[in-house]
Amino acid sequence: MYPPYPPEPWRIKMVEPIRLPTPEERRTALRAAGYNTSLLRSADVFIDLYTDSGTNAMSDRQWSDMMIGDEAYAGSRSFYRLEQAVQHYYGYDHVIPTHQGRGAENILSRILVRPGSHIPGNMYFTTTRTHQELNGGTFHDIIVDEAHDPADEHPFKGNVDLAKLDRLIRTVGAENIPYVSLAATVNMAGGQPISLANLAETRELTAAHDIPIILDAARAVENAWFIQQREPGRADQSIAHILAEICRLTDGACMSAKKDSYANIGGWLAVRDPDLAEQARNLVVIYEGLHTYGGMAGRDMEAVARGIEESVEHDNIRARVEQVGYLGDRLIAAGVPVMRPIGGHAVCVDAAATLEHLPRSRFPAQTLAAAIYLDSATRAAERGTVSAGRDPASGEHRYPKLELVRLTIPRRVYTRSHLDFVADSIINVHNDRAAITTGLTFTHEPSVLRFFQGRFAPADSTVTRSGA
Ligand SMILES: *Cc1c(COP(=O)(O)O)cnc(C)c1O
Repeated sequence: MYPPYPPEPWRIKMVEPIRLPTPEERRTALRAAGYNTSLLRSADVFIDLYTDSGTNAMSDRQWSDMMIGDEAYAGSRSFYRLEQAVQHYYGYDHVIPTHQGRGAENILSRILVRPGSHIPGNMYFTTTRTHQELNGGTFHDIIVDEAHDPADEHPFKGNVDLAKLDRLIRTVGAENIPYVSLAATVNMAGGQPISLANLAETRELTAAHDIPIILDAARAVENAWFIQQREPGRADQSIAHILAEICRLTDGACMSAKKDSYANIGGWLAVRDPDLAEQARNLVVIYEGLHTYGGMAGRDMEAVARGIEESVEHDNIRARVEQVGYLGDRLIAAGVPVMRPIGGHAVCVDAAATLEHLPRSRFPAQTLAAAIYLDSATRAAERGTVSAGRDPASGEHRYPKLELVRLTIPRRVYTRSHLDFVADSIINVHNDRAAITTGLTFTHEPSVLRFFQGRFAPADSTVTRSGA
């Protein structure tokens, strides 16, 4: 039987045709892309689950607001609307617009991180850690151990392990920790939430050492949904209220509006400290644009402002998270090993378990994502060894415990029949997994964020670097 599927609180007003390429076309396209789904052309993809970033369908209201965007270079009316929405729903005083989330990360890291800095976080995120490292900082994972076990059913796998954080503070010294970087939900763990109780305890510990907390707010609304569903005493509170509670326990946030806010582009940095805000405004002019547009068009800021309002509507967030859960439940019912519990934005297939006959140095998740594309022109993303990159000190591959293929669901884009098509394909590839006998090896390996532009070939008997 099929799991429950709530009816979407919207109907379709405009359509975008998509086409299923033939098997031969898929083989050609995959070879041309160097076996990297990041390098596929979107025209060669049928169902695109590469990311939920900027792939949202906007509402008719967002589109109509775009028509009234104020494109003034300085002091755009649309900026003040965005600023007001962020202040109202996220509760920070100072809002600095950026072109997307990593623009905010760049500015924050340049101000706060220097050689010798240590930045604890509840699991790393690719661009976040890269900006910390580019400024000379060292990232430390302080997430609970359960987050690294795909089968563990802990309801809040995004939680901070307070003992790990305490140990780090005592080892490197609070003065060398510019901030604690907390994601809600945790993307790399498959969209797992942090609880308000854990956030409050983390707050208590960091406050005792005068260390600020910076929230990665990209999916904080999805996190608020899980808190409402799972955390004792929260069932009767609104999503907007819980979101404000999350933010209240932090000192600032980096936001990718391409996620929760239903926009196609945009982001912001928001802080409470006026001095920090002043420094950020000075840097945003250099890297993004004036502090009243930060790389966004006026119409983009309108779309983000309206998207923030829509994102906290109960029916919207419910349909969003439960659609993801539907795909996950179908895979679980068929025996496909997936990250448990199902997260807020993605279903993550445990590629290390599916392709347990491949060594990690052959990149099982990269290999599985390629196989899924060949089967159904569904595009998934690698979130394993390739994404983890090399250790800056040793130059060796980092082998994360999680070797995942991420099926990320764009918001308001696909229907239940699309998800059934994807589920059938994943189940098919899983049942045929013994036929996948060779993994992949790099033919071109970029030095940073290698998962985006790296190229691969089937590994056959080529000798590669040793690995786990
Ligand atoms: C997408 C994302 C970012 C970076 O934001 P961009 O808008 O892609 O630059 C940072 N953190 C998390 C958790 C994200 O998912």
